[in-house]
Amino acid sequence: MKTDLSDPKELRFSGLGVSSGIAIGPAYVIETGATQVPEYQVAADAVDAECQRFADAAAKARRQIKKLKAKALLLPEAAAEEVGFLLDAHMAMVSGSRLTRGVERRIREELINAEAATQAEITEIAHSFQGMADAYLAARIADVREVGARLIRNLTEREYQAFSMLPQGVIIIAEELSPAETALLDPSVVAGFASVQGGAEGHTAIMARSLGIPAVLGVHGLLRTPRNGDLVIVDGGRGKVIVGPTEETLAEYRAHRDTLEQEREKLKGLRRLPSVTSDGTPVALYANIELPREIAAALEAGAGGIGLFRTEFMFMNRDTLPDEDEQYEALRTVVEGMEGRTVTARTLDLGSDKLAEALDNRFNQSDNPALGLRAVRLSQREPKLLETQLAAMLRASAHGPLRILLPLITTVSEVRWVRNMVATVAKRLKRRGVKMAETLPLLGVMIEVPGAALTADALAACSDFLAIGTNDLTQYTLAIDRGDDQVAHLYDPLHPAVLRLIQFTAQAALRARIPVSVCGEIAGDPRFTALLVGLGIHEFSMNPSKLPVVKRRIRSLDLRSASRRAQTIMDQSDSARIAELLDEFNAAD
Ligand code: PEP
Ligand code: MG
Repeated sequence: MKTDLSDPKELRFSGLGVSSGIAIGPAYVIETGATQVPEYQVAADAVDAECQRFADAAAKARRQIKKLKAKALLLPEAAAEEVGFLLDAHMAMVSGSRLTRGVERRIREELINAEAATQAEITEIAHSFQGMADAYLAARIADVREVGARLIRNLTEREYQAFSMLPQGVIIIAEELSPAETALLDPSVVAGFASVQGGAEGHTAIMARSLGIPAVLGVHGLLRTPRNGDLVIVDGGRGKVIVGPTEETLAEYRAHRDTLEQEREKLKGLRRLPSVTSDGTPVALYANIELPREIAAALEAGAGGIGLFRTEFMFMNRDTLPDEDEQYEALRTVVEGMEGRTVTARTLDLGSDKLAEALDNRFNQSDNPALGLRAVRLSQREPKLLETQLAAMLRASAHGPLRILLPLITTVSEVRWVRNMVATVAKRLKRRGVKMAETLPLLGVMIEVPGAALTADALAACSDFLAIGTNDLTQYTLAIDRGDDQVAHLYDPLHPAVLRLIQFTAQAALRARIPVSVCGEIAGDPRFTALLVGLGIHEFSMNPSKLPVVKRRIRSLDLRSASRRAQTIMDQSDSARIAELLDEFNAAD
């Protein structure tokens, strides 16, 4: 994470290589906190039309806020009241307020476009609020900015397509990209990206891998250097970013890119071969997906099913929540697309770094969002959200095998609560004559909190399968924020504490005779395969692009020697020694 100034012609940076591959292209620098607001002059005779454009955007904002208010009424009473007040304030701001009057005045007097006028007015209002002694009023700055962002989105009619106007082949350079923003990147347009912030296992990194966009995060000092259009190389495998590369460096990286491409082609040959160890034990390989369109990649990689569908991504980058029909259609696409292979749909895991604008203003900001109202806890707070999602899942189960997976479970009562809700929703659908599978979907529990792992036997007794989420399990066991580059060097799934929790969970599932999988990022890293198989895990779910390398490792693996090596490793107390033993075993095969 440092700058190497040894060659004056090029600048080399190091960071966390989170999504492998080489990207070479012009930089597109996104300044911190800046929204991409177009600015231009408007001719005097076009001023009326520009004011009308702004009036239309404000009218659209009023319709959007009205819709949000209708949804807020479904909240528990106190929350509905609080959100209602907030939305009333937003409504007032877009209905003949200082803001709307100020924007119109600027368009007329300064002859500038509506977006630029809105941005300028927001900045001025925010500035005048800042000086206020009243803390409540000072805190309204955030509301003013939110309303301003809504107006600008309506004006540009780009909704959340913040990156839709990028030139082909660019490399995005930013302070930080959220998982929701990353989900908007189009891999046919964005060649790669690098950011100052972000950890290796946060959802931004996971999304980059899903899209197959080379990415390096946690690159300190990066924003000070490149300007728009500067040539940049992103080496997502080795965590390097090179600004203004020399001809020599360029040639070297082009050659490296060709080698990687050849390797990828070679691995394609594995697609049709079975995933079995050298002594014939089958190991199921499933795909993790975030959006329905990723099933093509899952099928292409030869996935045996979907082991984790992160449904929360369907809730991001939009003003309103998807209703039951929309969710059903998306799930049906995945279930039908997988042609009879099992699809594991996880219920909403929003909160922490995964945010949905349509829900944001319903909850208070938490000091520790990773320990706060996320995942199943959010579902318990807003049962209607879950009910809708379960109804969509039950309907989709009519089209093929579908399992339901619950995120961030910590107690058996949470599982029982959801199971009851599944039964209630199913009864309601049946009464309406809605088609569903004959039997209710299997209900699985994610083991991603140490407390859940330590009570895996109890959770196994009340669920139909377990899925170990090692990303969160590592984060919570070692108290390392998975998305924070400053502590990324301490994030270590080979820590004996994490391995013991994995082993404990695998053994609990084995005793309860229910399936257990690993669906965290280590499932897609061939370095870990032998150890996990040796610990009794015979089901993995991963980014589809990782499937071939993991399959290659499985096919070279002897189950008995993997188990013996796993036992030796579990006797160790030092993760450096564990890494050594693992690497030595992997190298011997
Ligand atoms: C995990 O925590 O390992 C997991 C698979 O869930 P997510 O990455 O979506 O938090
Ligand atoms: Mg998780």
